Amino acid sequence: MKILVLNCGSSSLKYQLVDMQTEIALAKGLVERIGIENSRIVHQKGESEKITTTTDIPNHQVAVQLAIDALLHADYGVISDIKEIGAVGHRVVHGGENFAQAVIVDEEVKKAIAECSSLAPLHNPANLVGIEACEKILNVKQVVVFDTAFHQTMPEKAFMYALPYGLYDKYKIRRYGFHGTSHKFVSAQAAALLGKPISELKLISCHLGNGASVCAINAGKCVDTSMGLTPLEGLIMGTRSGDMDPAAVTFVMEKEKLSPSSMDDLMNKTSGVLGISGVSSDFRDLEEAANDGNERAKLALDMYAYRVAKYIGAYTAAMNGVDAIIFTAGVGENDAGTRKAICSYLGYLGVSIDDDKNKKRGIEIIISNDDAKTKVCVIPTNEELTISRETLELVK
Ligand code: AMP
Repeated sequence: MKILVLNCGSSSLKYQLVDMQTEIALAKGLVERIGIENSRIVHQKGESEKITTTTDIPNHQVAVQLAIDALLHADYGVISDIKEIGAVGHRVVHGGENFAQAVIVDEEVKKAIAECSSLAPLHNPANLVGIEACEKILNVKQVVVFDTAFHQTMPEKAFMYALPYGLYDKYKIRRYGFHGTSHKFVSAQAAALLGKPISELKLISCHLGNGASVCAINAGKCVDTSMGLTPLEGLIMGTRSGDMDPAAVTFVMEKEKLSPSSMDDLMNKTSGVLGISGVSSDFRDLEEAANDGNERAKLALDMYAYRVAKYIGAYTAAMNGVDAIIFTAGVGENDAGTRKAICSYLGYLGVSIDDDKNKKRGIEIIISNDDAKTKVCVIPTNEELTISRETLELVK
């Protein structure tokens, strides 16, 4: 079976067609600037060159149709009949407390996704539009895989905020966590790489991309994670502040006369390593600037590694130990310097890194020294593969 994996953002759509026999992505693409001028689709068949087409894309239904047209295209398509698409798997950001695993889409599920929209106002409505667009274009089963689902095993003491309890009753304000599909995938891969059943492992997974989160996984189950009600909490990210004194928020709003939405933008879009360095949210730019002597870029990198190390310490305490630490996503997979900086805080856990192994890229690898007490692994994440696997599992 071939499964279409869709990830609908507020103005974008990422797609992949995965052949489930080989688990290889036959083609993938990105539709950008949906509903804005200069919209375009970038399509790639296998590993061949990317093809960019600029065209008017007023809404997600047109975007889904364009993605399917690209998959059917005579030159750069990978299927000859729409019927070859056996099912669709959607990444949905927020499942609230309703979903601890993937489910087949029906009217009830759509209603529940809509109800979670207040918790993910940019993402859940777009996810729903993507589902409904597929209903109109394709006559196949659809599955939704939630970013929050893996974290639903967290105990109450980890997911509650110490606000008046009534706010939880009224608005379901609590920690939900995100990147669940990635944490689940890399923890399973790491267990296989370490040659141990996941049920015997205490793992700390660090998903360090533009968005970043840490997850404590005991015996395959999430027991705590750094993102919260929204993806803003926890680590310092590309453009997000992560943790800080909540009183700083009201202080800045008052002093700078900011509305709630302007403050939200400030914390989500102009903070993080970008806000500190004033250089970039991209670690490649930061490292170049730091090497050229830019002190604020250096500070941003130092703060970033320190925060990740603090979370690893906290989650080691939460689990009363750790067997392995996993690095994944853009920074975690590619940035040897950041991995080394984080691990430099972890000598007390018996972490020591082999510098040659730490330089390797693009493969699953244990980068700690052979005799290190706590192992460190780099595992390239593959959220689309996880979504396609969970979709197949439900529709077959
Ligand atoms: P993601 O959100 O997982 O796609 O990660 C994107 C981020 O990964 C970028 O913003 C960069 O900061 C970082 N990144 C990607 N490639 C590299 C690299 N070769 N070295 C350092 N950082 C990288």
